Amino acid sequence: MKKAIVCGAGGFIGGHLVKRLKSLGYWVKGIDVKYNEFEETVADEFVIGDLRDPKICEREIVKGIDEVYQLAADMGGAGYIFTGDHDAVVMHNSALCNLNTLEASRLAGVKKIFYSSSACIYPEYNQLDPDNPKCSEESAYPAAPDSEYGWEKLFSERLYLSYGRNYGMEVRVARFHNIFGPQGTWRGGREKAPAAVCRKVAEAEDGGAIEIWGDGLQTRSFLYIDECLDGVLRLMESNETGPFNIGSEEMISLNDFAKLVIGISGKNLSINNVKGPQGVRGRNSDNTLIKKSLQWAPSLPLKVGVEKTYEWINSQVESLKPISL
Ligand code: NAD
Repeated sequence: MKKAIVCGAGGFIGGHLVKRLKSLGYWVKGIDVKYNEFEETVADEFVIGDLRDPKICEREIVKGIDEVYQLAADMGGAGYIFTGDHDAVVMHNSALCNLNTLEASRLAGVKKIFYSSSACIYPEYNQLDPDNPKCSEESAYPAAPDSEYGWEKLFSERLYLSYGRNYGMEVRVARFHNIFGPQGTWRGGREKAPAAVCRKVAEAEDGGAIEIWGDGLQTRSFLYIDECLDGVLRLMESNETGPFNIGSEEMISLNDFAKLVIGISGKNLSINNVKGPQGVRGRNSDNTLIKKSLQWAPSLPLKVGVEKTYEWINSQVESLKPISL
C-alpha cells in the first residue's frame, strides 16, 4: 500500500485529492491548519498543523512516505490576490510552507513530491490581448507575473526543481489554471471567479442583476476538479518533471461565463459590469506540451462542470436561508 501526505488537505483541491488517493487504495495523511469546512475527511490521519513551522514538518513528514503532495498556500481569487493588501503575507506564508515541506521531505527520504504552481506565473505582457493570450510553458521567461502570488509560485517552482537536480528527489510540478468544482471556497473574499459568479446567481432574485468585475470581456479558462486530479496523477505516474500546464483550453469571457451560469439557473438576470480587481486581460491553458509528453489533456465541456458546481453552491445558499414558517 502506497503512503501519501497531502499538505493543504483541508482545502478545496487537497480535500478532493485525499478522496481520490483513498479510492486508489493509498494510506493518506492530511496536514492543514484547518479541517475542510464542507466535508468530513476520509484521510487515515489528519493533523492540524502549521507548515510554516519547520518542526511541524519534520515531525509529520517521516520515513516511509512514498509521495508528498504540496498544495498548501495562502491563496484566494482576484479579490484577495490583486488588491495588494495581502502581498507580504502571501509571499511569507506560502514560501515558508514550500521551503519547510520540501526540506522535511528530503530529510525523510521521500522519493516523489508534487508541487502545485499556478498559471499566475505567466508574464503579464503575453496576456494583454483577451482573444490571444500566450501561456505555453516556455513562455514563463523573461518572468513578469502580475501578482506577488505569481512571483512566489515561480520562486517555489525553481526551489522544487533545484531539489530535484541537487538531491535526486523525484519532483513533479504542475501549473494549475483556475480549478473549480463543488466544495471550493464560494464566499468570504477568497473565492475565485467561477464560485463567485455561481454564488451571485444563486443569491439573485429572478428578474434582478448580478455584478461582474471589469468590462467582462476579460477571458479565462476553467478546469473541473476531477480532471485536475486526473492530470496530477498522470504526471505523478510519469517520468516527467514538468512544469506542465494543467488546465482547460475552453476559453470564455467573464460575461459569457456569467451568461452560462444564468442559463443553468433558469433565472432571468442581467449583468452589471462594475469596477473591481481583474488580473490579466486574457488567460488560457496551452496543452500542447502535456499532450505530447503525457498523452493527456482534459476533455470535459465547461458546461458540465459548471452545472455540478452551480447545483452545489445553490444548495449552500439555500441551506443558509432562514426558514419561513
Ligand atoms: P485552498 O485555499 O482551498 O487550499 C489551500 C489549503 O492550504 C487551505 O486549506 C489552507 O488552510 C492550507 N494552508 C495555508 N497555509 C497553511 C499553513 N501555513 N499550514 C498548513 N496549511 C496551510 O486552495 P486550493 O484551491 O485547494 O489550491 C491548492 C493549491 O493549488 C494551492 O497551492 C494553490 O495556490 C494552487 N492553485 C490553485 C488554483 C485554483 O484554481 N484553485 C489555481 C492555481 C494554483
